[in-house]
Amino acid sequence: MSGADLGPRGQEPGPGLVKRACDGDVRALGRLISLVENGAPELRAVLREVAPLTGRARVVGLTGAPGVGKSTVTGALVTAYRERGLRVAVLAVDPTSPFTGGALLGDRVRMQQHATDQGVFIRSMASRGHLGGLAAAAPQALHVLDAAGFGLILVETVGVGQAEVEIAALADSTLVIVAPGLGDAIQAAKAGILEIGDLFVVNKNDKPGAQETVRDLRGMIAMAQHGPDDWKPPIVRTVAADGEGIADLVAKLDAHQAWLGSSGEGERRRLARARGEITTLALAELRQRMGALPGDSAVDELARRVAAGELDPYSAAGELIAAAS
Ligand code: GDP
Repeated sequence: MSGADLGPRGQEPGPGLVKRACDGDVRALGRLISLVENGAPELRAVLREVAPLTGRARVVGLTGAPGVGKSTVTGALVTAYRERGLRVAVLAVDPTSPFTGGALLGDRVRMQQHATDQGVFIRSMASRGHLGGLAAAAPQALHVLDAAGFGLILVETVGVGQAEVEIAALADSTLVIVAPGLGDAIQAAKAGILEIGDLFVVNKNDKPGAQETVRDLRGMIAMAQHGPDDWKPPIVRTVAADGEGIADLVAKLDAHQAWLGSSGEGERRRLARARGEITTLALAELRQRMGALPGDSAVDELARRVAAGELDPYSAAGELIAAAS
């Protein structure tokens, strides 16, 4: 953790920092996100303080392979929601790298039109040293942004894979973005991304092959089982670079939000998220405590007994948990 995160003269950052971040101090907010990234010890106090201020933000996840236009779509959505008067935060998460990825930094350049807007906060995030990894860091960053009064948080993840699926699970609505000609639709299905998409965006609708991509996606969505009351993921075509289709995308996002409310699915997802967050932290803590047991000798001795058939592995695991508690 850098000294700057501790604030001037290294004072305890908790209370003053949260208040300032909630009063619109962008630097204070940036420091809070750094505390989250670093899994700093002050985080406990910070999260305790922000908890009563949370529960208002709407979280929209955007995922897809590099180059499909995620940050262009994100930028267009920021513009659209700013026109509605919402304060918007963008959290770009790179699960593939423990450090902020170069690609994401490049993406930020395309967001420069929002750089001077006080109602927009843009931040790339990695999980440098957070005990629970990104699975713990990302929801904590969302709590902080929520408490700081951002009505909409856009979470952008790069790539397609398990980590994106986990991060997408943090969102109320998840957009899966594909583009023609990259075989993304097929790739997306393989990576299980199809299951997490609440909405599908075929971006670069101006490029050849867009029609085929829509057709492929439609076929795959049709194969998924949808009950009569289930949400049926729509496909929205956009030319994000020109803002084309963005109004339609916003309308579909609103429809999804309304469905989340009326079906009870929104509440179910919120609870599932909280449950995941708690268990991730508890497991990380348990792992750390087991690592802090005197030497590895406790585990070594249990291992010796299990290997020799003197003890069964369940009992050994129970002894280990008991020793760490
Ligand atoms: P990301 O890597 O998924 O975030 O993709 P970017 O948003 O960085 O976009 C990748 C490239 O595609 C950039 O050069 C964009 O200007 C371009 N791009 C984005 N949207 C469109 C679009 O709708 N049509 C076309 N032709 N190009 C686009």
